[in-house]
Amino acid sequence: MGILVVGSVALDSVETPFGKADNVLGGSATYFSTAASYFTDVSLVAVIGEDFPDEHINFLKEKGVDTNGLQKIAGKTFRWQGRYEYDLNEAHTIATHLNVFKKFKPHIPAVYTKSPYVFLANIDPEIQLNVLEQVKKPKFVACDTMNFWIEGKPDALKGLLSKVDLFVLNEGEAREFAKEPNLVKAAKKILAYGPKTVIIKRGEYGALMFNGGSIFSAPAYPLESVFDPTGAGDSFAGGLIGYLANIDNTNESNIRQAIIFGSVMASFNVEDFSLNRMRTLTLKEIYDRYRKFKQLTHFEDIS
Ligand code: AMP
Repeated sequence: MGILVVGSVALDSVETPFGKADNVLGGSATYFSTAASYFTDVSLVAVIGEDFPDEHINFLKEKGVDTNGLQKIAGKTFRWQGRYEYDLNEAHTIATHLNVFKKFKPHIPAVYTKSPYVFLANIDPEIQLNVLEQVKKPKFVACDTMNFWIEGKPDALKGLLSKVDLFVLNEGEAREFAKEPNLVKAAKKILAYGPKTVIIKRGEYGALMFNGGSIFSAPAYPLESVFDPTGAGDSFAGGLIGYLANIDNTNESNIRQAIIFGSVMASFNVEDFSLNRMRTLTLKEIYDRYRKFKQLTHFEDIS
């Protein structure tokens, strides 16, 4: 089954303790689409400015992403500038230049309005809501956000959550949004806004899923070399929703497997700057690492 994704396509400038990259390809929808493209068909709706290099569009096309919904308008592309300290779990935003985002009114092409799976990647929650109004009864809707919107548009975000099946956010954002330091209590508060499932990403500590009364905990893959955590969350979501759309079944046991595919995609993404690791990544590497995750968490029951 195909996925419609709406989110940011960006030019990022990122500094980590291991190096620096300026004006490189980034954006929530870019990372999501690329990761999900390994599992299913992806249609991307986003906005870029006149300065956006064609080579980036070609990269997405090579990954099989349908870019017909990528609108180029007058002005500059959205830019994000961030920095990471040795604690790579926390991104410090230095600057956010909304640029063409300010004028962005997404138009969902008619062929995409029937997409069974919809992912509303990190972007203004009012834009996320606007997209949901245009699609026709999708089977499964998931969304992401970040502190910028939690602080800037909390009410729009709460309105959105009453309309989605699954919400992914990172642990700092969950605490801030729920105004609750304990993650289990925070998840319960967030579930009360409407989503059936909440997944809290915890960077190098893995992810926690809250689904009704049940909780699932997945580790992150223990990597020796992490270069750039940018896009880990969106690659996680791409592997997660990509896998669910591929098997077209969103019961809890499949969501658990999907979380591992999400963790696999995030673990590859952080091995290099921007989307560079995705340029060479193969499906075989993805399946091999999935099996390593299985070994990593396997232990015998007590007899
Ligand atoms: P993450 O997966 O959370 O590391 O997301 C990283 C991507 O989010 C970067 O490539 C940024 O371009 C993008 N981003 C940063 N801030 C925003 C924002 N306020 N709205 C939408 N996208 C953003």
